[in-house]
Amino acid sequence: MARYNPRKKNILGYAGLVVILSMALSAGIGIAFGNSETGKTPVPTPSNTANNTADPSDPNTNTDPNKEPTARDKALSGQDFTIDPATGMAKEIKVVDDNYMILVNRTHPLAQTYKPDDMVTVKYVVSGVGKKGETDQLRKVAAEAFEQMVEAAAEDGINIKMRTGFRSYEYQRDRLYDVEVKNNKGKGMSEEKAIAEADKATARPGHSEHQTGLALDVGGESEKYALSYSFGETKEGKWVAEHCHEYGFIIRYVDGTKKEPGKLTGYVFEPWHIRYLGVEAATEMYQQGGGKLTYEEYLGILD
Ligand SMILES: [Zn+2]
Repeated sequence: MARYNPRKKNILGYAGLVVILSMALSAGIGIAFGNSETGKTPVPTPSNTANNTADPSDPNTNTDPNKEPTARDKALSGQDFTIDPATGMAKEIKVVDDNYMILVNRTHPLAQTYKPDDMVTVKYVVSGVGKKGETDQLRKVAAEAFEQMVEAAAEDGINIKMRTGFRSYEYQRDRLYDVEVKNNKGKGMSEEKAIAEADKATARPGHSEHQTGLALDVGGESEKYALSYSFGETKEGKWVAEHCHEYGFIIRYVDGTKKEPGKLTGYVFEPWHIRYLGVEAATEMYQQGGGKLTYEEYLGILD
């Protein structure tokens, strides 16, 4: 049988599948309900019962033991994703290492003390290099990748710059999250409502990717480098969406809308917020989802 070519029109593939399925059914071979020849249902093995381990039906899973581990394999073994039922959260990440693929979201936090020590000031920032201090910085690997991306964009006549890079736990708490809650209360909201609304718009301290030093907000010349929901429709936003994976970045909150946070990422869609993962993972994600796959789906960590 010819190898299935995903680039070919699917219609023949489906027709072929229907034929095979009907043949199998008429021959009395159980497909969906275990093995009808032995009458046994498949016994769960550790690999299909453990939460975040290899699932052979998952196209991302490396099942060949002789194969080099992929970036995704390394990411999955480099972090404890276990959720504590009492808190609904994973353990805080405390140690900064060279796992550039750490998952940080509403259920996977960073410790207050988490701060990379390999940060450098990014060359292309909106306010002028270094003027804002830490928020003009990224971890070296992400800074270099971003600078390459800016230079490649410029060659295509597209001008982009970073607005914000690193944000400390304290910055996130004192200058963003707490301010948001306070403003909401000022609008007459109850404490509970003020917090719920703040959670939709702003990450709690420890839950912002900006604290990793691997995420940044990007603006384009057409909109004077502002952070805007229409960034995705500008020529700069389109260029970023099409090319950022080539430099190791993904647009992060692709399952949200302007109003509603994504179910998996937990945040509203921000076309300007990009995250460094490395070229291998970012490219694989782009190939699989055309820019619409969330990082949570790619890793298979869907809590
Ligand atoms: Zn951001």
